Amino acid sequence: MDSADLPPSDITEAVQHTLEELGIHDTPRLQELFSQLANQLQKDMAQLAETGAGEPEKLEALRVRWLGRKQGVIRSINDNWLRSASPELKREIGQLLNALREEAERQILVVKRAEGIPMTPAPVTVTPAPVTARWSIPEPTVFVTGALDITLPGTRRAVGVRHILRRVMDEITEIFFSLGYSVEEGPDIESVYYNFEALNIPEDHPARDDQDTFYIDSRTVLRTHTSSVQIRTMEKLQPPLRIIVPGKAYRRDTPDATHSPMFHQVEGLAVDTHITFADLKGTLDYFLKAFFGPEVRTRFRPSFFPFTEPSAEVDISCLFCGARGCRICKQSGWIELMGCGMVDPALYPHVHYEASRYSGFAFGMGVERLAMLKYGVQDIQLFFQGDVRFLRQFR
Ligand SMILES: [Zn+2]
Repeated sequence: MDSADLPPSDITEAVQHTLEELGIHDTPRLQELFSQLANQLQKDMAQLAETGAGEPEKLEALRVRWLGRKQGVIRSINDNWLRSASPELKREIGQLLNALREEAERQILVVKRAEGIPMTPAPVTVTPAPVTARWSIPEPTVFVTGALDITLPGTRRAVGVRHILRRVMDEITEIFFSLGYSVEEGPDIESVYYNFEALNIPEDHPARDDQDTFYIDSRTVLRTHTSSVQIRTMEKLQPPLRIIVPGKAYRRDTPDATHSPMFHQVEGLAVDTHITFADLKGTLDYFLKAFFGPEVRTRFRPSFFPFTEPSAEVDISCLFCGARGCRICKQSGWIELMGCGMVDPALYPHVHYEASRYSGFAFGMGVERLAMLKYGVQDIQLFFQGDVRFLRQFR
């Protein structure tokens, strides 16, 4: 087919054929073709001006004819001429095509402005494709293009934060990470062996009383402390060992301002050769200064725990009165904080460690107690009631 065969009235028909079919192989004839198209565009615009520039539908029809995504002249040139063109002509076609597109866009825009037609097409309703996934979209989403006002404030989404107890536990673990400790975990539902026996707490010890412990059956309890993980870890790992165990513990306490049947502990354990009580004191002094602030002083008082020997209670200087004496520290200037001690050598045979070779220390602290002191919380129940007015204060 030769271009001469085409009806001269509408050159846009030619874009439905390839250049090969049109018999066009050189630049001059190509340029002529594009100049005919440019003329046709002018004619269309002139016709529109005469017959209905004020009617948006007519302008839209013209836009679709030239710039439509599926069958528009520009699109067809791209598909039919450009793609199959020889490498020599491709560059030329690309340039001419761009110029024609820009001209068409410009002309249409001029008419729109002159007639006060909105710059955007009618709202587009996007109907979602059939949903086969497990969720569904309730309504078709309507996008009104051009309705976006970027000066409006955005929608603020409510973002949750870590619970205050989780945050305190993270603070504690961070400090011990810096000392080379790693985190271990164990089950909340624990055997009597790991919870009591292996920790040197014999059958007749008051801690094993029904009054103090949730028994699931005679051999299974909700762990009364995270110390049970100490034995599990020592069975698994050989010294040197430096671990902390953050987690929940359970006791049959009646809820009040300082007691809860479920609470959180962080247990610590270090076992190596040549570990002394001085290491224990240095470690806890470092930790408490890092957690509460460098001005805090520590005090160790002799105490008793079944699984440490010797054992100690650790006090810190009162945070509220600077150790001068107040209601909170009961005028003593000191606040009782946690228990600790050297691992009782009687425990080592349970885990097949050589008692003559290794020594170690252990400590345990209540997360709620530390959180209450650091953040001035008066009632332990507040941690578990889920009241957002309370939780929001710890953003
Ligand atoms: Zn005080």
